[in-house]
Amino acid sequence: MFETLKAQPADKILALMQMYKDDPRETKVDLGVGVYKDATGLTPVMRAVKAAEHKIWEAQDSKVYTGLAGDPAFADAMIDLVLDGAVPRATVAAAATPGGTGAVRQAFELIQMAKPDARVFVSDPTWPNHLSMLKYLNIEIVPYRYFDNETRGVDFDGMLADLKTAHAGDVILLHGCCHNPTGANLNATEWDAVIDVLQSTGATPMIDIAYQGFGDGLQEDAAATRKIVSSVPECLIAASCSKNFGIYRERTGLLMAVASDATAHDLNQQTLAYLNRQNFSFPPDHGARVVSTILNDATLKADWMAELEEVRNAMLDLRQQLADELQRLSGSDRFGFLAQHRGMFSRLGTTPEKVEQLRTEHGIYMVGDSRMNIAGLNTKSVPILAQAIIDVGI
Ligand code: PMP
Repeated sequence: MFETLKAQPADKILALMQMYKDDPRETKVDLGVGVYKDATGLTPVMRAVKAAEHKIWEAQDSKVYTGLAGDPAFADAMIDLVLDGAVPRATVAAAATPGGTGAVRQAFELIQMAKPDARVFVSDPTWPNHLSMLKYLNIEIVPYRYFDNETRGVDFDGMLADLKTAHAGDVILLHGCCHNPTGANLNATEWDAVIDVLQSTGATPMIDIAYQGFGDGLQEDAAATRKIVSSVPECLIAASCSKNFGIYRERTGLLMAVASDATAHDLNQQTLAYLNRQNFSFPPDHGARVVSTILNDATLKADWMAELEEVRNAMLDLRQQLADELQRLSGSDRFGFLAQHRGMFSRLGTTPEKVEQLRTEHGIYMVGDSRMNIAGLNTKSVPILAQAIIDVGI
């Protein structure tokens, strides 16, 4: 039977990583895969994570199954971290999932179960996994305008006009903060206008929040999500702990379904547990336990927050250094957007040909759509990248 399988396209980022490895140039710069790296190029285990793992190792006397929705302490801690009381806890159904990807996937399946003909509105561009999972599930995708290639900010008028075509029963997928792949985000007034559209169309928001704490701060990055959930009757939220806890491989995420009444809440909770059982049964526990251990221990939490702040500020510093260097070299402010963008990524907004030229002529590796992982830079590589950008004529 296997001969009937079709070859799947290779993962572009993994292919890029391999090319980077094979490149002998000492000045090569890897801005591809989306993981945080410190100034030495390492993706460290956070201090609080190490300490929590130690605590768990000492105290844990069984690895028997948790519940289908995972350990309730994890859900409680994450609901608090993301929503901070924006809606009553009793309205939030939640299930732990393998990573934020698992939460997004389960959310799509929930949408499909609830409304088989629902369309999902996605930003153009969005995280490619959104598109591939929607296609895989045969869910209709409606792209909405998002990135303005001229300003490298959000094409907000275009976005709003496109969102206004949604109806009740459609889903609008939003990035809670730190948009991937562009780095361009809405301001508070623009989020308010999106909330108006959600209310006037009756479409259901689904918020993917994978970088809380990587943009403007833990509270600031969750502000839009909190405002949305408290302004609409129903909402889906897919949260990832991969980046802000640095526990990528532990596969730790939470799907939240917020409903307006107790009956809908109970149905949501049962359905989330049911969906987990169909796909993988019990979700992974280790990362979730690390997260709840940190969030429920004042000392560990304070240390985690301090380290996350270091990470966030390091990325902001690199953004500023790159923008400054490009201003110096180009004599113009046209790269100022790099300092305005937030999160790990910035879309440079150039052609695949220029991206290839950066790679072949300068050993700079970024995804073909010109997404750069800002955390892949350091003080030594910032001037190399800036000079290369000018040399290829971006
Ligand atoms: N959503 C977005 C927009 C992301 O960028 C990511 C990470 N690449 C995720 C979700 C989920 O990541 P993970 O499954 O590793 O938690």
